[in-house]
Amino acid sequence: MIQIPFSSAFIARGRTQRHVMKLYLPGDTGQAICEKDGLTSMTFAYRDVPFENGTGYVRDILVGVCDKCGAVIATPPQSTPAIRAKRDKASVPVETNLPAIYIEALDLAAYRIDAQLTPDFRKRLLMYYLHDCATNNASLTKFLAASDQLAPIGKTSKLRKRLSLKVTARNQSEIEKMAQICDLNTTALLQKLIAYIHSEISTVEKPHHLKALRTLALVAA
Ligand SMILES: [Zn+2]
Repeated sequence: MIQIPFSSAFIARGRTQRHVMKLYLPGDTGQAICEKDGLTSMTFAYRDVPFENGTGYVRDILVGVCDKCGAVIATPPQSTPAIRAKRDKASVPVETNLPAIYIEALDLAAYRIDAQLTPDFRKRLLMYYLHDCATNNASLTKFLAASDQLAPIGKTSKLRKRLSLKVTARNQSEIEKMAQICDLNTTALLQKLIAYIHSEISTVEKPHHLKALRTLALVAA
C-alpha cells in the first residue's frame, strides 16, 4: 500500500476552504489518487496503517480508502500527529562508555536546572543542546569553538560510566549529522556536548537557556 502525501494527493469534495482545518469523520468522502486506479473517489474510514518502513502499525487511524480497490490512499491532517508520534517512539539505542566525570557533569547541569530531576533527564538535556547546535548556526559556531574543560580530568580518570540512551529516529539523525560536522564518533561527540553543556549551565551565573530548560524539566517530570 502506498501512502500519498495528503497535501498533494487529496482534493476535498465541495467548496474549497482556505486557512481552516477540516475535521473529517468516518463516511466523509473525497477524491485522491490511487496508485492502481488513478484519480478516484474515496471514503474516510478507520484502518490499521502500516509504516512505510514496515516496522509496525498504527491502529485505528482515520484514513481515505479508495472506493474501487479498498487501498488506503490518503491521510487527513488530523491523523498525521498520531502516525508521527508512533513513528518517533521507535527508539534507537545509543550506548557509550564515558569517563565518570562527564556523567557527573551532566547530572550537575540537570541539578542546576531542577534539583528534583532524575537521570531520565540526561537524554532530554543532551538532545536539547544537540538539536540547538544542529539547527542554529550561532549555537553551532559557539559549540565548535568551545574548549572541553573536562578533558584533562577525563583523560586521567580510570573510572568510566555507561551512558545508555534510547533516542528517537529524529534524535539519531541529528547525532549522525553533528558527528559528521564535527568529524567525531558518537562517544567523542557526546563528550564534547557534555563539556559544552557543563560550560553553558554549571560554570556561568546566568545560563542562557535556563527558562526553556526548566519548562522542559517540568513537562518531562
Ligand atoms: Zn484503488
